[in-house]
Amino acid sequence: MKSVLGAVAASCFVAVAILLLSWTIYFVELNSSAYDFALRLAGPVPPSSPVVIVAIDEDSLDRIGMWPWSRDKLARLIQGVSAGKPRAIALDLLLDNETSEDGDYALALAIANAPPMVLATRRDSVDGVELWRQPLGIFIQKGVLLGHVHAEPDFDGISRQVFSLKAGEGRVVPAFAIQALHAAGLEFKSDFEQKAGGAELIRPQAINIRFAGDQNTFRRVPAWRVLEGSADAGEFKDQIILIGFTAEGLGDEWFTPFAIGQKKTSGVEVHANVIDTLYAGRVITEVHALALLAALGAFVLLLWWLNHRYEGWRFYVAAISTGPLLLALSWLFMKYFHLWFPFPPFWTAIVFVVPGLEVANRIRVSRDLDRKIERLSSGWITALTAFQSQTQAASERRNRLFGRRRRNSRWKLDAIDFFNKELMQFLSFNNAILASIEDVIIVSDLEGHVVYQNMAAKGLQKYQMNPPDAPAYLASILDSGNFRPLFENVRTTTESVTVNFIPTRDGRRFYNVSILPIARSGIVITMHDATAQYELNQAKSDMVSLVSHELRTPLTSIRGYSDMLLKYDLVQDKGKTFLGTIINESNRLNQLIQSFLDIAYIESGRHKITKSDFEVGPMLKDLIGTVGPMAAGKQIAVQSAGADGIRVHADRLLIYQALINLVANAIKYSPAGTMVRIGVSDGNGGVRFEVADQGCGIPADELSKIFEKFYRRDNEETRDESGFGLGLAFTKEVAARHGGDVVVESEVGKGSVFTLSIPG
Ligand code: ADP
Repeated sequence: MKSVLGAVAASCFVAVAILLLSWTIYFVELNSSAYDFALRLAGPVPPSSPVVIVAIDEDSLDRIGMWPWSRDKLARLIQGVSAGKPRAIALDLLLDNETSEDGDYALALAIANAPPMVLATRRDSVDGVELWRQPLGIFIQKGVLLGHVHAEPDFDGISRQVFSLKAGEGRVVPAFAIQALHAAGLEFKSDFEQKAGGAELIRPQAINIRFAGDQNTFRRVPAWRVLEGSADAGEFKDQIILIGFTAEGLGDEWFTPFAIGQKKTSGVEVHANVIDTLYAGRVITEVHALALLAALGAFVLLLWWLNHRYEGWRFYVAAISTGPLLLALSWLFMKYFHLWFPFPPFWTAIVFVVPGLEVANRIRVSRDLDRKIERLSSGWITALTAFQSQTQAASERRNRLFGRRRRNSRWKLDAIDFFNKELMQFLSFNNAILASIEDVIIVSDLEGHVVYQNMAAKGLQKYQMNPPDAPAYLASILDSGNFRPLFENVRTTTESVTVNFIPTRDGRRFYNVSILPIARSGIVITMHDATAQYELNQAKSDMVSLVSHELRTPLTSIRGYSDMLLKYDLVQDKGKTFLGTIINESNRLNQLIQSFLDIAYIESGRHKITKSDFEVGPMLKDLIGTVGPMAAGKQIAVQSAGADGIRVHADRLLIYQALINLVANAIKYSPAGTMVRIGVSDGNGGVRFEVADQGCGIPADELSKIFEKFYRRDNEETRDESGFGLGLAFTKEVAARHGGDVVVESEVGKGSVFTLSIPG
């Protein structure tokens, strides 16, 4: 929208500039030639007015005698013409000098007896003063009209128009042709004549002549034939007779738009053309300057649109072909509407605007390129360098390129080459990464069509090159029924889903499959081969059953028999001490096996979590009761707070064990006489347990390690305490199984706070 408004504004500006330019002298000349051309193109038209020229031609001069003829002869000529009963006679001769009294009288008599007459008058410079040259008084009789005979050639000597009237010395004289029509009593349409009451008003106005053709268009009768009586008087009936020179060399010849080959047209013929133009209503009008401006603006806009729409040679062809079209338009207007539509300003627009638009395009492209290179250089380079450590040579090349001050077009091309190269490298680098990934990666669009598979996918037993449907493809590889609902879920919720240990159809391999959305444009499926892990889990699970059955059974026997030996007093003093150690150690071993089994059970997934809704308070009461003796042994007070009315939905036994681990640790790793607080709070549908002690604390660098299996801190305060480093690992696993977590905050020497959170 902004660019369109800009184009409209620019078009208006260009149109005004071209219009102003077209009024300069060079263009006026061009416009005049174009006008003549259009008129010639429109071609001659058959005259429609009743005009006959009585021509004082070369033959007449030969036969009757050299000019000037005596007034007698003129009188005879008029009498001869009058005999044919014409509508009017217009005499295109200046009768301003006195000759012989008889001759002048004879002419005056002939005029008096003639039909309505028009006599010629003209303003001429006599001794440097502009004066009307008009007929002698005796000729200006009642009913005789005066018409001015000024042909108004343009600066290039070509007559294209006459003025409706001439004024001077307080008199206003209408044009000769207008007077001839008036004298003949013929009506014609004009926009410069107005009738006000009885009077007729003529406004001064240039009349563009629609020439009917070249110099021989109107009917002619040579004057000598009238004088010798051989003319057919019938020819003059009801006609307007124009009497004037057609012979060359008498000074009344003019160039017209039809004057091809330097052939001039006589003045009388020009008047005949004016009469015909007015009579037939063919005055050539000109397009109004404002309309021209609007058309020019629209045309420039059209060129802009063409440039916008097409590029290169198409645009040139389209723009240049408007030239002939405009000419055709001009011809059409001239021929059928007698309207001069000047095409040169439009041609000028083509000449200036077409290269102008191209230059503007170049500048815009160049600027745009600058901006894009700038964006590439800042954004991409950072991205590229972040991914790859640049080689010395590459970074030198880059620094050299972007260090250059003169950023000409050569530089821009170099920059594009540079980016091209870098991007290709980046892409091949990425491809290499994708190819080297052992996990299978399959990408589909949102409709489920597979659009990409990495190299690892080719290793799949049921690999297909272009599978049409990703869920069906997965179902053909893996033995897990229908994947479509999972896909749908990911697509609608845009949350990823992972399913572990899905066997292949042949049951030989196991995959962890993740389905992830990519920014509303597709879905990525990753398949991690988890066969080894699956087998390990299997082994672990086997070991759990081995430990629980094969290890515990003999241990129970060892303990049982030792107890019996002691109970029935079957050994001597020293043996009793040994038996006590055996019983203690087998107890420890049993504890270890129990802790280990606890973890192994839930890790292996054998322990199915059974959640129930229970009150926290009674559970904590049990718990405090259980740890009571241990706490009492160290004179440590255990308190709970905030548990009233709080309920939780969880596996009661596991939570209890997890909390026991935390509270037992708090007692174990605190000095005598301190306090352990169990805080409970709920919120967001879940429950938080806080176990705070005033014990030895844990250094920051060990905070994450204490949750690892078999990890025990080795320091003075804790060394004496028994344990296997499995309690916190168990607690963590329990939290994870409930979708929660356990975290610790601690300060060495001051105490620790363990927080177990269980979501609702
Ligand atoms: P265990 O207590 O059997 O050694 P745990 O997994 O319960 O194993 O704890 C791991 C280690 O974390 C302990 O050895 C101890 O060093 C440290 N620890 C646990 N709880 C506390 C506590 N409340 N204060 C200080 N240290 C603790």
